[in-house]
Amino acid sequence: MKARQCGNCGKNTMTLQKVHGPFSWKDFMSVVLLEPIDLLQCSNCGEIGYRPKDTETIDRSIEATIRALSGKLVETIIEREECSQTILAQRIGITPEYLSGIKSRTRTPGFQTFNMLKILAEEPSAFEISDPTFDIDDIEVPVESYREVLKKLA
Ligand SMILES: [Zn+2]
Repeated sequence: MKARQCGNCGKNTMTLQKVHGPFSWKDFMSVVLLEPIDLLQCSNCGEIGYRPKDTETIDRSIEATIRALSGKLVETIIEREECSQTILAQRIGITPEYLSGIKSRTRTPGFQTFNMLKILAEEPSAFEISDPTFDIDDIEVPVESYREVLKKLA
């Protein structure tokens, strides 16, 4: 296929490239595809040229990426915490059916749920805190005396 003119920089340097993104999609600001897709991209300025048929391909690829990442996050948390899917669903505030769908990559979580999974997967302490019976006073933290704080500020 011959190169096309770029709508941004005007050079005839738009050709099919393997593109990973990042793309913004629904509430997701920046999704980098696990599998690149063929899109027209300008080798001069980086502009992506969308053809009508690309929209569907991009949508499908982004959704597949989010599903794959989310399913992996669910597996990571369940393995580490040795908890049931029901417990994890409660902690996130979603139904066990929805969580099961995310785990099996058949449902796509919204950004909030995805973010919650990401935090719980990356921060083991976040899982502990997400327990509704968790009491902040149970954490042993060094307590600095008010006097010491004032001295430092002086
Ligand atoms: Zn260009």
